[in-house]
Amino acid sequence: MNIILIAPPAAGKGTQSKLLEEKYGLTHLSTGDILRNIASDGSELGNHIAQLLKEGKLVDDKTVFKALESKLLELNSHNGHIFDGFPRTINQTSMLDELLSKLNQKVDSVIYIEIEKETAMKRALGRTTCPSCKEIYNIYYDTFTIENHCNKCNAELEKRTDDNEEAFNIRFDTYLNNLKPIIEYYESKGLLHTVKAQDKKEDTFSSIEEAIKG
Ligand code: ADP
Repeated sequence: MNIILIAPPAAGKGTQSKLLEEKYGLTHLSTGDILRNIASDGSELGNHIAQLLKEGKLVDDKTVFKALESKLLELNSHNGHIFDGFPRTINQTSMLDELLSKLNQKVDSVIYIEIEKETAMKRALGRTTCPSCKEIYNIYYDTFTIENHCNKCNAELEKRTDDNEEAFNIRFDTYLNNLKPIIEYYESKGLLHTVKAQDKKEDTFSSIEEAIKG
């Protein structure tokens, strides 16, 4: 089973992907995470990507696709995938179709998570992530055993360089500009399910499960 999660920045794609991964044994592929890894490797390409991420701008289709493809082939999972952050442009939809068809696979379900900009902004500005176990927190909603440290593994939490107001506005507006043709494409194929982002991650997850099971 291959699932695509489409949602504005900070709508909870990462959190929901983790829940889907745990429950259904799917492999989570986040282009944001893949790009952040390359961005920290000190290479020329890495530095270029780091700058784009910081500004909230998209990385070009070819670079993102190559990075995604090599990660997918490296993981060689037989249980299907959750695509989190890809496709983000209409061009990327056909890139993904071609890649999956080469592997004799296809997109089975597309989940579109809706959220208001104001709510998403609050989530982004409060978001901190554990660099070690990748747990995601929000300083406004979560409580911590030790301040600014992961409740699960104790590592010091980090803030993403693009979770500030200026970069968030660019990310959200870029997302909206690219969204319509992508949504229409999957709708025309009968694969699209729309769910609303709820305050509790478990409630959003239930809606996603209902959508997948059809
Ligand atoms: P968010 O959805 O909260 O913006 P992500 O972790 O999905 O966060 O992505 C972070 C950044 O990585 C994006 O703002 C963009 O710069 C880059 N990125 C991720 N996926 C893609 C993609 N498919 N195409 C182009 N750029 C991407």
